[in-house]
Amino acid sequence: MTKPEDERHTQAEGGRPLSQEGDAHQRPEAPRQSETRRKKDAHSEAEGRAEGNVSERDPSLRLFDLHCHLDFAENARELAAGLAQRGIGALSVTVTPAGYVRAAALFAPCANVRTALGLHPWWVADGRCTEDDVAQFEQLAKDARFVGEVGLDFAPAHAASRDVQLAAFERVAHACAEGGGKVLSLHAVRSADTVMDVLERTGCAESCACVLHWFSGTSDELQRAIKLGFLFSVNPRMPATKRGRAYVRAIPADRLLLETDLPPESAARYDAADVETPLRATLAELAALRAEDPEALGARIALTSERVLQA
Ligand SMILES: [Zn+2]
Repeated sequence: MTKPEDERHTQAEGGRPLSQEGDAHQRPEAPRQSETRRKKDAHSEAEGRAEGNVSERDPSLRLFDLHCHLDFAENARELAAGLAQRGIGALSVTVTPAGYVRAAALFAPCANVRTALGLHPWWVADGRCTEDDVAQFEQLAKDARFVGEVGLDFAPAHAASRDVQLAAFERVAHACAEGGGKVLSLHAVRSADTVMDVLERTGCAESCACVLHWFSGTSDELQRAIKLGFLFSVNPRMPATKRGRAYVRAIPADRLLLETDLPPESAARYDAADVETPLRATLAELAALRAEDPEALGARIALTSERVLQA
């Protein structure tokens, strides 16, 4: 079930697979030690803001997908209900502000789903999102607690739009930093340092809980993100690469989250089992790679997920 998603990414990358294996560009900048202390604990910060959590609303939730695109499915509401039946909570990210408005209304009755306000870098890169969309994002961000998918993509297929992406993402980060207290699901392909630069410069890195979705940067960038207190949502494609396996071993247990990035764009009907299967497979793989008990690791990830998703 990851095939269609791979195709989506491959297609959007202009036929170039998003393999992270050979992508170790050099980074002259070492992680900055001073930021370790400056960064508050994202978890306790989120905890302090919350009045309840998803498990209190639905104590049967035990597994969480922290980056999915439920609104891509034709049967989105049914899919959300199917996930609830399986005890799965979800952070459903969107790719445009208009898409967020639609998805937020669609999932409003679904206690197991949080909807995130998105401005996906691919949509900015190819002009499907314009200045008007960025302005709409800024307006909606005032009331949105969950933000994503946002970020930068400097892979060759999108690198020509680097400046446009950067200008839009700066505004996104400023809008999020203004009220603070948000959860951001971040796309950072060949751009993790730049994404972190923007998040630090705007104050987002400190005032919001930042989750790097499908991290694929360098090991220096990984260390910098860990020092900044960021979280990492891991999908089945991360442990499929040598570098990804090293990364999922290096990420502190309390920063780990699971994700699927599913369904693929323009999915027709989609089944909750096709979300649950990769989530469980990723958890099993993480536990094996880290030589941890799968149940204990699952419980820990569920706890972190609840804290991130509480609202
Ligand atoms: Zn995504």
